[in-house]
Order: sequence, then C-alpha cells, then structure tokens
Amino acid sequence: MILTVSDIRTSPEATSAEVVEIARRRAGLSRSMEGAVSRRSVDARRGKVELVWSAAFTLPQGAKYRAGEHIRIMDEEYIDYTCGRRELSLRPVVVGFGPAGMIAALTLAEAGFRPVVLERGGDISDRDACVERFNREGILDEDCNIQFGEGGAGTYSDGKLNTGVNSPLCREVLRILVRFGADPDILVSAKPHIGTDALKSIVVSIRKRILECGGEVRFRTALRSLRMKDGRLCAVLTDQGEIPASHCILATGHSARDLFRQLFSDGISMEAKLFSMGVRIEHLQADIDTALYGSYAGHPALGPADYKLWDRTGRRGVYSFCMCPGGTVVAAASMAGGIVTNGMSDSRRSGENANSALVVEVLPEDLSDGHPLAGLKLQEQVERAAFRAAGESYHAPCCRLSDFLEDHLSSNGPGRILPTYSAGVSWQSVSPFFLPGAAADLRAAIPRFARRIRGFDAPDAMLCGPETRTSSPVRILRGESLESGSCAGLIPCGEGAGYAGGITSAAADGLRCALRIMREFSPIKGEGK
Ligand SMILES: Cc1cc2nc3c(=O)[nH]c(=O)nc-3n(C[C@H](O)[C@H](O)[C@H](O)COP(=O)(O)OP(=O)(O)OC[C@H]3O[C@@H](n4cnc5c(N)ncnc54)[C@H](O)[C@@H]3O)c2cc1C
Repeated sequence: MILTVSDIRTSPEATSAEVVEIARRRAGLSRSMEGAVSRRSVDARRGKVELVWSAAFTLPQGAKYRAGEHIRIMDEEYIDYTCGRRELSLRPVVVGFGPAGMIAALTLAEAGFRPVVLERGGDISDRDACVERFNREGILDEDCNIQFGEGGAGTYSDGKLNTGVNSPLCREVLRILVRFGADPDILVSAKPHIGTDALKSIVVSIRKRILECGGEVRFRTALRSLRMKDGRLCAVLTDQGEIPASHCILATGHSARDLFRQLFSDGISMEAKLFSMGVRIEHLQADIDTALYGSYAGHPALGPADYKLWDRTGRRGVYSFCMCPGGTVVAAASMAGGIVTNGMSDSRRSGENANSALVVEVLPEDLSDGHPLAGLKLQEQVERAAFRAAGESYHAPCCRLSDFLEDHLSSNGPGRILPTYSAGVSWQSVSPFFLPGAAADLRAAIPRFARRIRGFDAPDAMLCGPETRTSSPVRILRGESLESGSCAGLIPCGEGAGYAGGITSAAADGLRCALRIMREFSPIKGEGK
C-alpha cells in the first residue's frame, strides 16, 4: 500500500531527503520504510515563497503509521492494457502524429496491432528545416510547419505538461514520457514541463519504438477523405492512395481545416465549439520573477516564475493562456496568407522575456450562422486581416501595451522589452484584430491583472498577434463507444476533435482511444504478442 504525507511546507532551500525525513517523522514511520518525494509545488501567495511537498512510502500490508490530516493511504493506479478476444481484421490506422496520435499508435504498437500512422507533415529534421525557412524567408509549407509534422503542434512549444484533467490516464502519459527520456521530475513537479529541445528527442524515440514493434509512420502522407459502406468505415483515402481500414483514430489537431471541411461534406457529424482569441504579451522575465517571488527571484529551486490570470468585467472572460517563462513568441501559421502567434521555450527557460497569450472568449453570437465551421472561418478572417495589414507578409502586427490601452499608436518602436516573434514584426496597433468589444474587455482587465502582478501593465510591455488557435473551433461528435455516430470505426481523438486541450490531455485521449480498440479486439493472429 502507498502512504502519502502531504502539505509539507519548506523554504526553497530544502532538499528532497530533508522532506522525506519530515514526512517519516509526521507519519511515525521507522527508518526501514523507503520513501520518496511525490509532489512539489511553489506557493508564492501572501508575499512569502514556500515549497509545498508530498512524500510517498510503500508500506507492507498492516504496517503501523500515525494518522493525520495530510496523511493517507492512496490506491495504486492501474491501467488495463489487456486486449479483447475478437481479432481485428485490418491494421488500425492512426491519423496525425501529435501527442494524441503518437500515444495511441505507441499503445497499439506495443500491444501488437502494428498500426499505420499517417502524418501530413515531415519528420523532425524536415520540420526543423521548414520552420527555419519560414522564419528566415517567410516561405510557408502548409503541410510542414509549427502546427504540422512529427510530434504535432506541441513539439515547438514550452512543453508545459500540466493539465486541469485529473485522470490516471494523464499520470500514465507522464510515466510514458519518462520511459522515453523525459526528466523524471515531471512526475513530481506540480507544473511539469519538458521544453522543445527535450520534446524532439522524446518524439523520435517513441517513433522508433513504434517501428520496432512493427508499426509504420508515413510522413508527408495526408488523409483526404474516408470511404464508408452502410455507415461503417472501410478505407481511408490519402494523397498517396487508399488504405483499407475498419478502425481509424482521427487525431489531426485543431488546424486541419481542409480536413474538417472535407469530413463535413462527407457527412461526418460535428458542431462548432467555443474558443478564445487575442494577442501575445511579453514582459521581462526578471520583472515577473520579482513581482511574484520578491527577494527569492532567480532562486535555482524556483526557476523562472509563471502566472495564470483570469478576469471577467464585460460579457467575455479574459485570461492568460499558455504562459512561457523565459520563452519566445513563435510564428505559428499553417495557412498561407494568415498570421498566427504562439509561444515556446527550451527546457532551461533561459530567455530574457516572459510571454503568454492574453485572450478573450468568443461567444456563440460571434459565430454568425452557428454553422459547425463558423469558428474556423472566424479564425481565418482574423489571420488574413493581420497578413494584409502587415503588407501581405508574415510580420506580426506589434505595439506597446500603452498604445493598446490608449487605443492609439503613439510609439514607433519597442522600449526596454524587445519583441521575440520569430518571423519579424510590423509596428502597428493590434486592436483591429479583436472581435467587436473584445479589445475593450481586455483593456478593462489589464489594470486588474496589474494588481495581482505588479508591473504587468508596464507601458513598454510588447503585444503582438493575432493569437487565434487557443483550442479547436470544432467538435467531431463521438458516442460512448468513442466512435463517430456517422461513421462506425472512426474514432475522433485529441484536441482537434474537441476532446482535449494541451499536450497531456491530448495524449491521454490518444491512450483512451487506443484502449477502446484493445478492449474489444486482439491483434491480427500471428502478429499479436
Ligand atoms: C507553438 C505551440 C506551443 C504550445 N505549447 C503548449 C504547451 O506548452 N503545453 C501544452 O499542453 N500545449 C501546448 N500547445 C498545444 C498543444 O500542442 C496541443 O494541445 C497538442 O499538441 C494537441 O495534440 P493533438 O495530438 O490532439 O493534435 P496536434 O498536436 O495538433 O497533432 C495533429 C497532427 O495531425 C497532423 N495532421 C493534420 N491534418 C492531417 C491530415 N489530413 N493527414 C495526416 N495528418 C494530419 C498534423 O500535421 C499534426 O502533426 C502548444 C501549441 C503550439 C502550436
């Protein structure tokens, strides 16, 4: 049995060994009981910086311990990987090699199903070259970019792994990432993150394992449509030919607009899903550290500070999204003639700036005709408007926070804080890229955010945008069996299908969808483990 002792508060100087000793004494355990730190978080509220820990001990049944408020026995988590009896007639197809598709394919491959993975983008090295060319020359490969390619949207990211979803599947995903090279600290940190540099090698290791188990990963191969018979999937149509299939995990992310349109016209039922849009803000990381950690700013046990802000003054919620401490702003376009921002950092988070998206909710009434693809059209309109405003270039509109708050471009360039947007900026107001009323809601929220983080309203903080792809604007409907109601055998999965938000929850949904197939089927005879 697992015993945990939680709410152990220490100064940032404390070591894991000291924490385990505190926990042992609190639970009255003898020295023979092995223990380890199981959770660590930072509490910087009330102007005092503390680390808050939990420690876990594996005890033999019947072992004696002192009960207490923060002392309890935990159930051991178990993920059931056993397969069903019915033999699957065709190899399962997984479309998309982002976190959802990757973990789904890995799970199926290790169970002997030899999945066929289709990925429209290239592998990591191909992708690095495409991203580099886009940033340097403004030449966009619409199939291989920050959104598309090996590892999916999350590969060029901060690699934050925290999620609001409290599920054993999410914890299993972290264990899988550690198995493929992630720092084991992600199992302990309350805000685990990997960083782009580490993520890339983990993605490649997972791909190699899938191949090792007899799976296939076909890069530069895009799903174009489906072949159905009597409402059941019988083949997937790709730009490289047709593949017979009875089961397909569709994990194509929130930016596969051409596919959303095609599947909609194929009769696959979907609905519009609300999302948010806004801009990205940059401050000096040192200012954020000082504001949140005071004299502890820069302490090695704390790392660069992060924040999460939320407010609602008018009709729309306004919040910070995907905060990247010590990171940079990236050109995240995947549609020619459209500008999109997002953020990333490497594992050391050592950049001078802190950035996050400041986004405002899109409301049902903003989705003009309520068409399932209305949100997608709205994103496109805003992205294209920015591209036009930047003189038909991918230079993101950028200005100072003071310009935005005064709704008047009075400056002609940055102050202390330099924009880090990877494809170059175009100095102009960002207000035109907000929905009517949304800019006003953000203006009203900034002073409130500044009450929580001193200096958040620094006049020379940088704003650039637009940030349009916070989550999927569409949900591809699935039933309890996780299959589409309009195409049996099709399993919509991950963020794009509207069932996840972020790397960990998308990967967890990938695991869920793979287990769904395994629960009913066994691999094709002679091929299974
Ligand atoms: C720059 C950036 C930074 C981010 N930072 C973080 C972060 O720090 N933490 C976090 O939790 N989340 C972050 N996110 C969000 C996170 O990346 C996504 O939530 C997550 O990747 C969703 O996983 P997914 O597998 O559902 O979809 P994606 O990761 O979007 O993967 C979908 C894959 O499908 C492929 N595909 C699309 N269409 C087709 C087709 N027709 N045929 C074949 N393949 C196709 C795409 O090329 C892509 O590789 C970030 C996103 C971006 C863009």
